[in-house]
Amino acid sequence: MCGIVGYVGKERCTDILVDALRKLEYRGYDSAGIAVFESDRIKTVKAKGKIDEGLAKKLPQVTFSATCGIGHTRWATHGEPSDVNSHPIGNGRVSIVHNGIIENYRELKAFLTSKGYGFESETDTETVAKLLDYYYEGNPIEAIEKALEDIEGAYALGIIFREHKNKIFAVRKDSPLIVGKGEKASYIASDVTAILEHTKDYYLLERGEIAILDESGVRFTDIHGEEIEKELQTATWDVTSAQKGGYEHFMLKEIHEQPEAVRNTVSPRVKAGLPDFGECGLTPEKIRGYKNIFIVGCGSAMHSGMVGQYLIEALARTPVIVDIASEFRYRDPLVSEGDLVVIISQSGETADTLEALKLSRKKGADTLAVVNVVGSSIAREANMVIYTNAGPEISVCSTKAYAVQVAFMYLFAFAVAFANGKIDEAECKRLTAGLLEVPEKIQACLNDVSQYQYVASHIFNADSLLYIGRGLDNALSMEGSLKLKEISYIHSEAYAAGELKHGTISLIDDGMPVIVAATQSALFEKTLSNVREVKSRGAKVAVICCKTADIDETIADYKVELPEAEDMFLPMLSVVAMQLIAYYTAVQRGCDVDKPRNLAKSVTVE
Ligand code: GLU
Repeated sequence: MCGIVGYVGKERCTDILVDALRKLEYRGYDSAGIAVFESDRIKTVKAKGKIDEGLAKKLPQVTFSATCGIGHTRWATHGEPSDVNSHPIGNGRVSIVHNGIIENYRELKAFLTSKGYGFESETDTETVAKLLDYYYEGNPIEAIEKALEDIEGAYALGIIFREHKNKIFAVRKDSPLIVGKGEKASYIASDVTAILEHTKDYYLLERGEIAILDESGVRFTDIHGEEIEKELQTATWDVTSAQKGGYEHFMLKEIHEQPEAVRNTVSPRVKAGLPDFGECGLTPEKIRGYKNIFIVGCGSAMHSGMVGQYLIEALARTPVIVDIASEFRYRDPLVSEGDLVVIISQSGETADTLEALKLSRKKGADTLAVVNVVGSSIAREANMVIYTNAGPEISVCSTKAYAVQVAFMYLFAFAVAFANGKIDEAECKRLTAGLLEVPEKIQACLNDVSQYQYVASHIFNADSLLYIGRGLDNALSMEGSLKLKEISYIHSEAYAAGELKHGTISLIDDGMPVIVAATQSALFEKTLSNVREVKSRGAKVAVICCKTADIDETIADYKVELPEAEDMFLPMLSVVAMQLIAYYTAVQRGCDVDKPRNLAKSVTVE
């Protein structure tokens, strides 16, 4: 989830590019760099670390007069944060900045190597730069057209060719990119906030379109070079909202980034319609050989493990043990050689989780790290690593990082079930295709937030409330409850719905809110019996369920409707509802949503 920018105009461009990159630094700060036209060359300056720690220190040592260039602030997905893996990436003839993931980069690398190309970086991006160079025979559009035919994955690309001085070419698929139109200059940027101080007029670039920017302005063609007309948009945001991309809080922005984040986690791990974790050596043979599967994490990461447990046990009929890292590490767990321990952490630095990993290795188990931050301690210590590609999460309260951990759990469960022969290839493909559709359905949940605001307006004054659900809904409710208490400071507990009457139901009194997740048809009637039990004791009930579910006001006070989806995938949607209910409740209570009291983002102490 990097930030990319480009400028062409009459002014010296380095400061303009670096200022725009600063506004996109929320998208990643593993490294930053620029490439500009200086005399007859492309001059590149790039450095590991935040802009002010690396790039900004290097720039004064170089004299620039360039008036056209591209820039990048990186959030590494392939290759650790380092100078050589920084963008722009090129070979002097072509230089590019890239946001996204090239899924078939290994195949492309093999092809280009056979054509005599060498590779310096570990990035997927370098394959695109080299592919463009390979196809370039004087006509940039032709080279872009041919290269895009070969590329699979997500990309927003800013491209410059040495022989086409002061021109920028831009294309995108699944990663964001806008083209800004100023009076005397043109721009590209990952979001409009990066260029707001220069212009509010911009075009939304679509898949299959090429933007060509030069001193005379911007024009667009289709992929074959046919000119096309596009409608100019005008931004209504002001400059101060820039960093949060127009959202009031990082948490809200990150909730809205979930479709992209889930897509970036799942798509690169689907080959020929089936889950594929070959990138880290987790082959079907290996999966088949494991005796036990453990999943260990803290907080939301542990909750994602609970979802994994339900799914793997249901589909693969393999026992799974989920544990809290701080408990696991001191209980002398029954882990041994032949077991797989899946270690989950957004930051990859969580102290208890790191120790749980070291302990598992000492006991001879194979370890798989599922982390978001490339090159983090947990990623380095584990035998195998899967990066969740959610992009940087700035709000302390985890949303998109949790969603991608859950998305990984689905794909992993399918892989285990298939490897163990519990589902056949057709079923595995069907389930995987269902998962690939989840980002669109999450988007549908985000398009109208009024129902979450409505529930929030009825619970924000409560002192205490309960979340209940059964099966997968129970696992999800634990996360929903954690979100709410974490940022709104309302006491809240999650309970397995059937467990309430064994004690907790005595807490219910007049008007106490109960949020029910009821997405699983097989358990629907059972859950509704529990709803009746609490409602008849005075609870105010909100039921989160599929929009087709038969719920009326005699059963629930509020119905939160989810788009239609297979039962199995509905929990991935109900968590979005729970995140937004928590968010709007905290906002109404005037809480500091992004920095809740007493908490820190990455817990590097015991
Ligand atoms: N895959 C590219 C890299 O690792 C771009 C990363 C991104 O856009 O998140 O450098």
